[in-house]
Amino acid sequence: MVGSFINVLVARLPYEKSIVWPSSRCFSCYRKVRLTDNIPILGYLRLRGKCRYCQAPFSARYLWVEVGTGLAFLALFVAEVGCDWHGLPGVKYDPRGFDGASPTFRAFAVFCYHAVLVAGLIAAAAIDAEHRIIPAQITYTVMAVGVIGGVLMPWPWPHPALAANVIPPATPWIIEDYLGKIPRGVQPWPFWGPTFGFAPPGSWKLGLLTSVAGALAGSLAVRAVKWLFETGLGREALGLGDADLLMMAGAFLGWQIVVLSLFVGSFASLILKLLEAIVRPTAPSDSAAGTPVTGPPDANELPFGPGLAIGVVATWFAWPWVGPRVQFPFFDATMMGVLCAVMGIGLLAAALFLRRPVETAPAPVAR
Ligand SMILES: [Zn+2]
Repeated sequence: MVGSFINVLVARLPYEKSIVWPSSRCFSCYRKVRLTDNIPILGYLRLRGKCRYCQAPFSARYLWVEVGTGLAFLALFVAEVGCDWHGLPGVKYDPRGFDGASPTFRAFAVFCYHAVLVAGLIAAAAIDAEHRIIPAQITYTVMAVGVIGGVLMPWPWPHPALAANVIPPATPWIIEDYLGKIPRGVQPWPFWGPTFGFAPPGSWKLGLLTSVAGALAGSLAVRAVKWLFETGLGREALGLGDADLLMMAGAFLGWQIVVLSLFVGSFASLILKLLEAIVRPTAPSDSAAGTPVTGPPDANELPFGPGLAIGVVATWFAWPWVGPRVQFPFFDATMMGVLCAVMGIGLLAAALFLRRPVETAPAPVAR
């Protein structure tokens, strides 16, 4: 049902239509979709993806987003509640009850919070893939949920606040003895360690700061990359919707994960681009009759959103292994600054290297 709602967002938000009115209807003959035909997945399969009245085909995206969202939620539930992937106490399901006596509410809260992020990522990726935009209505709404959740479930929740004391207070978190010792909470890491006195572990202030720092870092990292790359390249190369996507993820996962997922996401985008070249060697021409024809601005330019969303999820779920290995630079301000400067200069140099002489493109054909 969430996937079905995401489909409504993908079909309507780019045209600035209302998402609640009117009810679902065929884009070709404008007749209402029957309630029973609107059942997720089954409705699409029963009509074989065609309108009941005029036989106009609906985009296959309706089916894939519904199936994909369902599978993603199932995988999230199995990983977090079934297998205790992130090591959160009192969240793992046990056939005899949740962890003996602790309440099931905790598992429910963790799963729902993260499911909101996953749904937001799927919606942003699906709209970006189809329309090359990521609507702010999605990213800012989901980010707000991320910040509220951060305030209600501050690091190291669901660990008790005392769990933060495995690293003695006021000790730098980069000492070798404490690498890999940070307890991972729903907010995997706090925004800085050692935490400051005005925002102790487990306080809503720390949760708020961690979410806000994550959102800011996600947005600024993409904007910095965009500025450096485009300055070197001499033309536009990235959309600001990508900055909003990482901003949204940062409100849930903190600045460390989103900064790293920018690199993982670039790599994932590259793989997607290669896969697309293999699957669809020619330019796509799948403007299905069921959706209005609005071709993407440039069919050769792959949207960054889907790769970025994959990068976020991959980094987040690899964190139990990646986190301990990146603890040193991430909590050392000097080292972090040096790394950022080196990567910024590298990016600028790479973009300058890629800069092409002024293109003598043929005059655009008027349509
Ligand atoms: Zn129709």
